[in-house]
Amino acid sequence: MQVQIQFIAQLAEIDEQMDEIHQELGDLPGEVKEAEKKLRQKNSLVEETQGLLDELLDFRSKAGVMLQELKDRETRYAQQQFQVRNNREFDAITNEIENIRKEREAINEKLRTSTVKEDNLRLILSQQQKEYDETREILTEKEAQLTELSGSHSDEVRGLIHRRAEIVGTVRPNLLEDYERIRTFHTDAAVKVRRNCCSGCFSAVPPQRLVEMRTKLDQIFTCEHCGRILIPEGI
Ligand SMILES: [Zn+2]
Repeated sequence: MQVQIQFIAQLAEIDEQMDEIHQELGDLPGEVKEAEKKLRQKNSLVEETQGLLDELLDFRSKAGVMLQELKDRETRYAQQQFQVRNNREFDAITNEIENIRKEREAINEKLRTSTVKEDNLRLILSQQQKEYDETREILTEKEAQLTELSGSHSDEVRGLIHRRAEIVGTVRPNLLEDYERIRTFHTDAAVKVRRNCCSGCFSAVPPQRLVEMRTKLDQIFTCEHCGRILIPEGI
């Protein structure tokens, strides 16, 4: 029958392998997420500028018709001015004509500045589009790296997860809790005794304790200096 410390020793070995794999993947998963976020930001900038440009072009395409309509209205008012019955009506029509002229002037002014505005927007848009493409390229590259790395390890990781689940099912719950708690301080929560020393912190294990460890195999001992679980030699 396997003793508890053997399960812990196996668990420690599996966790060490998993940690190594995670280390190899490094920051890559985080970098992919970061690049995705950046791409969304670049995309919304492009869309915003494109929207302004569309608005401008839309205005220009409609400006001719708008000016013609205003001109027609002005002509009609000008004709009505000859048929007024009193000063009040005359003043009202003059006022209308004045408003129409102001409106036409505003449209013409907007038309005059629209070419410069369009040039500026197109310049900004091409710069933003360039930045979007660059970010897209970085993301694609990082995604490919991640897929390749994860792929080469995926079978191994699946195997380790499966074995770990089996062991976790057989370890005493409070022991497993201890192990996980120690792992938050030391990634190598269970270490071998080597040359009568804890191989985690290299402190000597007292001789009396070494004897106990050899005789009471079902009891768990920890290093009194670093708190790691000690795995007796030969396990
Ligand atoms: Zn120690």
